[in-house]
Amino acid sequence: MAFDYDSENIFAKILRGEIPNDTVLETEHSLAFRDIRPQAPVHVLVIPKGAYISYDHFAQEASEAEIVDYVRAIGEVCRMEGVEGDGFRMISNAGEHGVQEVPHLHVHILGGRPLGRMLQ
Ligand code: IMP
Repeated sequence: MAFDYDSENIFAKILRGEIPNDTVLETEHSLAFRDIRPQAPVHVLVIPKGAYISYDHFAQEASEAEIVDYVRAIGEVCRMEGVEGDGFRMISNAGEHGVQEVPHLHVHILGGRPLGRMLQ
């Protein structure tokens, strides 16, 4: 499958510095910033800097260095935001059924309050 990345998506603009963001962590291959419409006291988005639409795209085409950096960045954000102890939720919306608004791979890290049961 060919992945058709839209370089005009909002996270691509953030990565190019065209739109401001509230950065939590920047690493060589990843960027974490606060969601503009927070759903919990902690709501951080973690994205790879590379032009990847989805997890599948990332898994197929990213280098091992990018993948390791991304996984570590997610863990580091959880530690930095202090949600490791009480717990948190990590969500990645994908595609149309997953209602992915921004077509650049991202995980949401939500925490800082009890989040309730999501799956029954
Ligand atoms: P999703 O694609 O449905 O997983 O959600 C995209 C998320 O990006 C939403 O939670 C938005 O609030 C968030 N968002 C959209 N634009 C910006 C921005 O400019 N800065 C930070 N977060 C944003």
